[in-house]
This record gives sequence, structure tokens and C-alpha cells, in this order.
Amino acid sequence: MPETKSKIRIFGDPVLRKKAKPVQKITSEHREILSQMASSMYEDSGIGLAAPQIGLSSQLIVIDIGQGLYKLINPKIVKREGFHAITEGCLSLPGICIKVKRSKRVWVKALDENGNPVEIEAKDLFACVLQHEIDHLKGKLIIDYASFLEKIRIKRKLAALKTNGKTCKLQL
Ligand code: ZN
Repeated sequence: MPETKSKIRIFGDPVLRKKAKPVQKITSEHREILSQMASSMYEDSGIGLAAPQIGLSSQLIVIDIGQGLYKLINPKIVKREGFHAITEGCLSLPGICIKVKRSKRVWVKALDENGNPVEIEAKDLFACVLQHEIDHLKGKLIIDYASFLEKIRIKRKLAALKTNGKTCKLQL
């Protein structure tokens, strides 16, 4: 990986495996963090980012798949439908791309940065990114979806992460 200003935590950092805590009371500090997360996401050409990826074990995510920025607090999937598999990358796992089978459509409840309830009905790529980021809040990563053979292939890549990270098409 070339040296960047990125503050993104990379696989191996224990914060990525921790269960993120729900936000009890939204303050200006959370709004500030969400803005920082959005900047980091854009800087690293990601389309989604979860707070654990910047070292904060808190239930905050940002998403922008090109249809506007979403800043979500305490997001929860309340309903799912169908299946869909997309090859995903992760800013915390540079160079690793895994085809992940997820729900094609999800319904998510969350709070916006002012504490107002938000309900999102998402499908395809947007649904995939929501599930990817919500996984981060549970300490779950795309490598957990890898098949046995993929895991063997990935093992070498994980070891080489810092030396030759390439980026995948979708960085979440
Ligand atoms: Zn990720």
C-alpha cells in the first residue's frame, strides 16, 4: 500500500472485530464524527464506511453510492427479501475482493444525525452496502463469507496486505 493520510483501520486491528455500541444520546460530537467519516470515505474512494473502521466502536455509518450521502445512527435491518451476490471490497481489507451473497432487498430503520427516525427501503447495490456496513457494527467482515478455498487464497493476501494492496471496484 502506498502511504496515504488515510485513518482507516486495517484488518488485524481488534476494533474491527468488536461489537459497536448503540448511540444513546446524539450530540454535536457524533455529527462531527459522521462528517469526518464521510470525508475519509470520499478520500479513499469508498461508497460506505462504518465507525469501527476509523477506530470508534459506535453504531455510526455513512453511505454514498452516488445518490447522495446517508449518515445513519443505530441502523437496524427490520426486513429482508431475496438473494443477490456482488463482489465486494472493504477499505479495511485492501486488495481483497469477495463475492458475498446477501439479501437483495432490505428495510432499515435508523436515526439521522439530528435524532429523527429514518426508514430506508433499499435494493441491489444500496442494500448490499447497508448490509456490509451494518456487518461492520457487529464485528463481521467480508472474509467471514469466504468459502474454504477462498480462505486459503485470502490467507496469503492478508499476510501481504501492507505490501501490495490493490483496490477492488467496490470499496465499502
Ligand atoms: Zn468494509
